Amino acid sequence: MTIDQARVLRLYAEAAHTAHEALTALDQISGDGDFGDNLREGLDLTVAALDASPYEPAVAVAGSVFLDQVGGTSGPLIGLLLSAISRSLAEEPDERDGWANGVREGLAAIQRVGEAEPGDRTMVDALVPARDALVGGEKFADAARAALAGAAATAHIRARRGRASYIGDRVLGTPDPGATGVALLFWALARVAEP
Ligand code: ADP
Ligand code: MG
Ligand code: MG
Repeated sequence: MTIDQARVLRLYAEAAHTAHEALTALDQISGDGDFGDNLREGLDLTVAALDASPYEPAVAVAGSVFLDQVGGTSGPLIGLLLSAISRSLAEEPDERDGWANGVREGLAAIQRVGEAEPGDRTMVDALVPARDALVGGEKFADAARAALAGAAATAHIRARRGRASYIGDRVLGTPDPGATGVALLFWALARVAEP
């Protein structure tokens, strides 16, 4: 295996610490202010689980942690994403295909459960461009840029899903916290896979 899954998640955890204050501020404007806590807690629990079980496939460990232990709307949705990626990585002989198909499947699962469409101002707005880049065979760095651009573009749209949908214009100018937080996964992946 060339892409070290545990390193991706450890780097994602570091990013969640660095971004914690900013993500909290975004969710204070968009929602109830707990997104930074939810993401950081999920990734800290993941790192602890990886320390305890270093031979388990790391993305599978992270998926279970987010599904079982992380709160908010985002916890179970990120759990669905990570679980789909872990299944795909276990099946696909090619790791890049594994990540690409996993993101495709994970996004589909998130949309089945959450019913968000692109443009609803959710994490879907980061995941759609990331999926398109990966399925199109682009580099992880391009997928990361696409995800971050998708997240940034949510600053210009009113929410139709999640708590932010109750507060209308007040979110304009501020990107969606969940989209921003999910984009950091692709940043970590690109850093580990394409150093
Ligand atoms: P909560 O609103 O329950 O506190 P979090 O703060 O953990 O949830 O996560 C908020 C993020 O969840 C939002 O910024 C958005 O990206 C994402 N989200 C909310 N509803 C949905 C949905 N239906 N589909 C996809 N993502 C969603
Ligand atoms: Mg919240
Ligand atoms: Mg909450």
